[in-house]
Amino acid sequence: MKLVIVYNRYWGHMKLSSFLHFAGFGIKTILFKKKDPLLGTVIVTDRCNLHCKHCSVNNITAVMHPYKQLRSEMQQLYDMGVRILFFCGGETFLWQDGELTIKDLVAEAKRMGFLIVNVVTNGTFPIDLPEADLILLSLDGDRQRHNEIRGDTYDTIMENIRNATADNICLYMAVNQINKDCIQHVCRTARDTKNIRAVSFNFHTPYPDTRKLALSRDEKAACCAEITRMMNVRS
Ligand code: SF4
Repeated sequence: MKLVIVYNRYWGHMKLSSFLHFAGFGIKTILFKKKDPLLGTVIVTDRCNLHCKHCSVNNITAVMHPYKQLRSEMQQLYDMGVRILFFCGGETFLWQDGELTIKDLVAEAKRMGFLIVNVVTNGTFPIDLPEADLILLSLDGDRQRHNEIRGDTYDTIMENIRNATADNICLYMAVNQINKDCIQHVCRTARDTKNIRAVSFNFHTPYPDTRKLALSRDEKAACCAEITRMMNVRS
């Protein structure tokens, strides 16, 4: 399982033209066994202001990739048929090329014709990105567990969520040995907090230095059962 979206006011926001495109894609994939890509990722930088316990990919080069290069990667993905684009980091809100920021990348992706443009962030910067369809914001548990993993950032992030300029936020939890018991808490936070539209879960990706945080098969199954249970909870 790569990504599960549980609490979800997302799909109701989709334009009819986008829905028709995805429906057509589904038919081609299932009936005609086409294997074209639909979803692509552009990494804008690996620079990050955090040093999370489970992360092995931050600040290896700390390079901000130039706008021209990123635009060319976007065009390549578009030409391959990709229509759902994710901007990832490092921390995407740190990205700059002269005056250009992540807002300009999102706007350009929309101009190019991507139907859904999402941005992944750690949520530690003020959130003013109504142009994005979804802002995938990392929240890794309750205050104690989140801060154990991500440093003392929980309160800042929650304040940034409440002050965001649009309700396009999807919580994005990486489940590992530290926070595996926090799934319910994160679901309820998503449900009860202004500006959050959805919640999603990934399992920890183990690198050589973070293997001890990985879940066993049985632990993953228990997490999936908890997520399924929360999908059926109505209050
Ligand atoms: S915020 Fe993301 S990129 Fe930065 S250290 Fe944490 S997991 Fe890594």
